[in-house]
Amino acid sequence: MKECIFCKIIQREIPSTIVFENENLVGFNDINPVAPQHVLFVPKKHLEKIHDMSKDDSLLIGELVYHAKEYARKINLTENGYRLVFNTGRDAGQDVFHIHLHLIGGRIMTWPPG
Ligand code: 5GP
Ligand code: ZN
Repeated sequence: MKECIFCKIIQREIPSTIVFENENLVGFNDINPVAPQHVLFVPKKHLEKIHDMSKDDSLLIGELVYHAKEYARKINLTENGYRLVFNTGRDAGQDVFHIHLHLIGGRIMTWPPG
């Protein structure tokens, strides 16, 4: 997708700090972190939001979650825990319409979210 920020990050057309990559996924630091650790995991395939995923995308999204939790383990969040979030659509506050899983950790969080 030509005008998608996250597609541009995946293609290295705009800079970011990439912390994970495999053939299907990229993980990079959020530009505006809300916690000491804030990483976005995205599929290389451009899908606008979780609500658009098909059954055929299930493995891809499962892989996304798996690698986010593996990265959480790598950065020592196993003991204290962390939050994984998909904002999906306008009311949830989704700003970038390319599926991304927020991995947020390194501080105590509140519930319910704002
Ligand atoms: P959303 O609100 O769509 O769930 O989250 C979008 C996230 O993308 C926000 O946390 C925002 O800080 C992050 N973001 C937006 N533009 C950029 C960018 O150009 N680079 C990086 N690394 N993160 C971005
Ligand atoms: Zn995209």
